[in-house]
Amino acid sequence: MLSPELGAAMNDQIAAELYSSHLYLAMSAYCESQNLPGFARWFRMQAEEERDHAMRIFRHVVDRGGRVTLGAIEAPPGDFGSALGAFERALAHEREVTTMIDSLYGMAVGQADYASQVFLQWFVEEQVEEEKQATEVVQALTAVGADPASLLMLDRELGARRSEGD
Ligand code: FE
Ligand code: CA
Repeated sequence: MLSPELGAAMNDQIAAELYSSHLYLAMSAYCESQNLPGFARWFRMQAEEERDHAMRIFRHVVDRGGRVTLGAIEAPPGDFGSALGAFERALAHEREVTTMIDSLYGMAVGQADYASQVFLQWFVEEQVEEEKQATEVVQALTAVGADPASLLMLDRELGARRSEGD
């Protein structure tokens, strides 16, 4: 059984993952508006992944006898200035999510909730990947600078992203 405190924190994390999904979908829409279909597809896939993160936690809360409660999802920004701006924002966001996951993990350790610790390990590893991935794109976009040809090449490259497990 989940403690009420950890249950509440898990519910907050579900909300955060759903907001992440919303934010990435907004980034996808922004990239579509900039005629960057590859980046748009990449963000759309990321939005789907974030929904899956929310559902994993949803499942864990229910399986542990907790109760899932959903609230409103805040509206994400509509304009990110540039593709680089969107990925910089994505990286900053993932760093915040990492802090949240770490604090959830710390709470599970403090309560000797071993099932939650094992469950959260996947998320700890996932955050390493998320930050690495966003960092790589920020670096690539920084190298591209104002060169439109390189930007289109990178757009095509990111558009070839496959879903996890492929
Ligand atoms: Fe996530
Ligand atoms: Ca991922």
